Amino acid sequence: MRRAISYGRQTIDEDDIRSVVKALRSDFLTQGPLSEEFEDRLKRHTGAKYAVVCSNGTAALHLAILAAGIHRGERVITSPMTFLASSNSALYAGAIPVFADIDEETFNIDPAEIERKIRYNSPVRAIIPVHFAGHPCDMERISEVARENNLVVIEDACHALGASWKDRLGNLQRVGNCSHSDMTVFSFHPVKSITTGEGGAITTNDPVLYKKLKLLRSHGVTKNAAEFKAHDDAPWLYEMHELGFNYRLSDIQCALGISQIERLGSFIKRRNEIASLYGAMLLKYPFVRTPAVNEDRTSAFHIYPARIPFGDLGISKKEWFLMMKSIGIHPQVHYIPVHLQPYYRSMFGYNPGDFPRAEKFYSEEVSLPIYPTLTDEEAGAVVEAIVSTIACAAAASREAAGLKRILAAS
Ligand SMILES: *Cc1c(COP(=O)(O)O)cnc(C)c1O
Repeated sequence: MRRAISYGRQTIDEDDIRSVVKALRSDFLTQGPLSEEFEDRLKRHTGAKYAVVCSNGTAALHLAILAAGIHRGERVITSPMTFLASSNSALYAGAIPVFADIDEETFNIDPAEIERKIRYNSPVRAIIPVHFAGHPCDMERISEVARENNLVVIEDACHALGASWKDRLGNLQRVGNCSHSDMTVFSFHPVKSITTGEGGAITTNDPVLYKKLKLLRSHGVTKNAAEFKAHDDAPWLYEMHELGFNYRLSDIQCALGISQIERLGSFIKRRNEIASLYGAMLLKYPFVRTPAVNEDRTSAFHIYPARIPFGDLGISKKEWFLMMKSIGIHPQVHYIPVHLQPYYRSMFGYNPGDFPRAEKFYSEEVSLPIYPTLTDEEAGAVVEAIVSTIACAAAASREAAGLKRILAAS
């Protein structure tokens, strides 16, 4: 029996295991030297000046919003086509998430929609663009809009560690270098580019933000005597300067992160190979629409968002999904548009139809399995399964329609 194929999974090897075991034998279990080493690796990889690791991607978003000084009642623009954390983190700070609909080619937030939202909502303080599926947003346009309107930009790059793009001058920009934003946020959840179990990070080039992020990560406490407000340097002293949190990442987890980031390049390469393979194999089946390829953008392919027009084919997405699961292939759907969640509907009065592009995308989207250890044979089996289940479901729906006609005529 073939192993079940899920939409995403971690890639752990013996080096990862040795690295974690070594941390367990060391003096530090919580934040210690390995946290700093993991931060150094993240800086080296992204090219940002500073990196702060923390307990998860959601905490990273929360810290970024607080460090940016976003206050109660201020508005934060983000995409409705994202994981809940992108907008929930604004709510944690008492800010109001405002959604701007997606671009139909890239499924990323549409900069023209951002501009429209700025015109009709005040005061807007920040934009949180999400690099959906790992495909980099148009950061040049977004940063221009932000500059014109004096807005903070926090990139939600939870899908996009390892992604890169070329700017208008042809320079390579790595996601996380913050060349067109104030801060970039990552997640190390097991299905993301690399994992620490749970984990997250923020990168920035701004020393003031960096200091705030570090303070807020650990109770708002400093142990640095040079920063003390009381002019006392007794050796046991620490001072709390802000209301912070415990959002630290343990050294056990950082040991895994350090070992994982070594293989980030090969992970992203394999994800891109699988994406090309799907693209080539699905060419024969135009009823499955594959994500557009852009020469100037290298996606991290956190997910592979295919689209199937279930309505036009006369089949139910739910039935198709269950058929796939019954043969051991577990696709996923990314995402239920955030504004359609009961909480958002009841708090902000959203209704179906408010973000039509995101909703249409949701009705068609299926995330095909993609992760570094997925074999070519398994990718082939996924495509075969899609084709046969769709043919089967279409036949069943034709038969049902036929039966209905016969019954109506009798
Ligand atoms: C995974 C994810 C997050 C949250 O990350 P966690 O580490 O699970 O808290 C935030 N935003 C997006 C877009 C994500 O995919």
